[in-house]
Amino acid sequence: MEEIKGRRLIDRAYGEGTQWLLRFGAGLGLLIYLALLPTLALRPEFGLRLLWFLFVPIAPMVLLVAPNAWVSLCPVSSVQNLARRFGWRRGTRLSPDASRRLQLAGWIVMFIGIPSRHLIFNTNGSAVFAVAAAVTLLALGAGLAYYSLSGWCVGVCPIRPVEVLYGQLALDLNRPEKCMTCDACVAPCVRLRPENGEKELIGHPVIRTLACAFPGFVAAYFLLDLLNLCTAEQVLFQGTAVPPVNPLAHAGMVYGVMAAGSVISVAVFAGLGMAAVSQRTRLRAAAVAAYVFYYLGVMPGIIKSWSLDSTLGWTLAVIPFLALAAVLFVRRR
Ligand code: SF4
Repeated sequence: MEEIKGRRLIDRAYGEGTQWLLRFGAGLGLLIYLALLPTLALRPEFGLRLLWFLFVPIAPMVLLVAPNAWVSLCPVSSVQNLARRFGWRRGTRLSPDASRRLQLAGWIVMFIGIPSRHLIFNTNGSAVFAVAAAVTLLALGAGLAYYSLSGWCVGVCPIRPVEVLYGQLALDLNRPEKCMTCDACVAPCVRLRPENGEKELIGHPVIRTLACAFPGFVAAYFLLDLLNLCTAEQVLFQGTAVPPVNPLAHAGMVYGVMAAGSVISVAVFAGLGMAAVSQRTRLRAAAVAAYVFYYLGVMPGIIKSWSLDSTLGWTLAVIPFLALAAVLFVRRR
């Protein structure tokens, strides 16, 4: 156990060998990420296929089973941690209120950002490159300006909401490799006990509502594909991307459908609350439902974009469901 500024840290450290493995993985992840960025701009069809139908589909599985391993490996987090890794110890400690506001902003950015994939980021490699480059520079700046991972990685990062939601079910409960020396950059920090993520979710009414909205939001995203309301991605991987006839009406339809999915989802979870299902169970159910909707929704895209034989594709789909079975049925040590 360690004592830092009066906060007792739970001794959940990876073994020495695993730490080196995670450091190697983080270095490799950073190299792959830095190679992917120009690929997105120069060979967009290939770069987008790699991003949306290979790298991104791996993320939810890791976030579910081992969210702190994800933090250890994430290339943008590694960029934020770069200065600290090489001895930088300055930076502002954000107040708990400021961190909470940034985390709320992360949820909002996620809810605004994901629908925009259907509008631009699924088919425009240069746009993804521009946003990813800006985010990477922002993370680098946050690493210099703020303590440790605060500001970006444990602040406004729009993937962190999924980390917290799925982390409730985590099997791997060790601290991130980047946090082996913790300087209490945020308080409270869910990365010390990912299985208690529900406390952060319950602690803010907007975040609690957005967590319940998330499964319907994810389902609606893929429903747009299923109903052929967003076809630019499919067209892109067949050779050409056709812009929608009326971009404004199209954007309104995409955001409208996803907002409707979110509202239905909130209503379903409110109904479960009225049926006396505990908040803890509801938030865990929200994580499971969003995860299942994601993999059922993304598999047809993976099969199509890599021209996989459908038997092979659906065999691969077993992997995320094995990960889900593991978090639901394997006992945590
Ligand atoms: S508070 Fe500690 S464990 Fe949490 S992100 Fe900051 S350094 Fe890592």
